[in-house]
Amino acid sequence: MTPLDYDRARIWHPYAALGESAPPVRLAARGEGLDIVLADGRRLIDAVSSWWCVAHGHCRPEIVDAIRRQAGILPHVMFGGFTHFPAIELAERLAGMAPPWLDRVFFADSGSISVEVAAKMAVQYQTALGHPEKNKLLALKGGYHGDTSLCMAISDPDGMHTLFRGIMTRHYFADKPALPPGGEWRDEAAESLRREMALHGGEIAAVICEPVFQAANAMNFYHCNYLREMRRLCDEYGALLVFDEIAAGFHRTGPLWAHGRAGVEPDIMTVGKALTGGHVSLAATLASAKVADAISAGSPNAFMHGPTYMANPIACAAAIASLDLFAKGGYGERVAEIEDGFRRGLAGVESLPNVADVRILGAVAVVELRGMPSRPDVDGVIDSHGVWLRPFGKFAYAMPPLVSDAKAVSRICGALGDIASREAAPVQEAGDFHE
Ligand SMILES: *Cc1c(COP(=O)(O)O)cnc(C)c1O
Repeated sequence: MTPLDYDRARIWHPYAALGESAPPVRLAARGEGLDIVLADGRRLIDAVSSWWCVAHGHCRPEIVDAIRRQAGILPHVMFGGFTHFPAIELAERLAGMAPPWLDRVFFADSGSISVEVAAKMAVQYQTALGHPEKNKLLALKGGYHGDTSLCMAISDPDGMHTLFRGIMTRHYFADKPALPPGGEWRDEAAESLRREMALHGGEIAAVICEPVFQAANAMNFYHCNYLREMRRLCDEYGALLVFDEIAAGFHRTGPLWAHGRAGVEPDIMTVGKALTGGHVSLAATLASAKVADAISAGSPNAFMHGPTYMANPIACAAAIASLDLFAKGGYGERVAEIEDGFRRGLAGVESLPNVADVRILGAVAVVELRGMPSRPDVDGVIDSHGVWLRPFGKFAYAMPPLVSDAKAVSRICGALGDIASREAAPVQEAGDFHE
């Protein structure tokens, strides 16, 4: 068996069939700046930032050095009974960047786990306050919070997780936010939020959303007044407010935190993806003193979660180096330039017959199609433009590294425009789903 045959027969890829009907994969050999270099030497601009995490480019020397250094000192130690300098420094640095009241930190090994942790914090908080009946979450249709069973249960109920209804607890959902950012606000847009809270507020431990940008399920940008209304409702009904900034945080939509636009204070925030600049997996759940103190005063007074690789020192060192790069500044301006480049490069695409909508916010460009072209068509676009794209559902989109230059953005727009100008395939192909 060749290595690729072995891969096809034996190794699962995300949301993909295994064996004969497995979709083709490309053999990545190296990462270099904006590029993924394939084993045969061809280069593809990573217009997806490898699922939105490679913010500073691949193989960024500052981050690679930090990983090397830490690997030679203390690659891992259990976080139960020990602490270490990278965790302490990272917690201080993260708290310094986050909204000032979110200074209690739980390090998780992936984004999904940080969301699970946020939900458990909310339930422990409510229980400590004498409200064990408040053990459900209110989430938004069109949302995505990860693939573990709690995360599936609070992601879009009609989305990609319907197969697993049987193992998912029922939570509550408000309608997908429909008003775009920047437009005029209408109060009735939040009617469904108010209705769900009025119906179920007594059971709701926390409201959770991806602020301003619903990514993996809907590629939807929405008005920040939804967040203000959420805060108001949470206060009225004694629920916590959780912002999942895993996709939208670290300047992806412009400001450092997507919720920064709203001037709203969450009680808990999750971060991941770009935290280490996409060099190694790490996420964190940040909570306010109000949440932490209530849990500490409850019974048990311990917060009940603890993954094996919690606060892995190599991951923490990578994250510190990544935060150093963010702290040097300029990312807001870079993202504004990428946004301008998208607007120029995608002008006219919205009038193509297979295009339903074009939406751009910060370093995110979404071309919503009426139907996805065939897989060979999409692969042809990727290979001929040398731009890696990963369209899913009806969305062709780009979320490139935040250090992308104008030339790269223009090439990415060329590839998106090419996909948009193709005909929709008659039926969706089997064997490959989602993102
Ligand atoms: C990707 C993502 C997650 C899950 O993170 P993993 O690291 O894949 O577990 C959770 N929430 C949002 C908003 C995400 O985009």
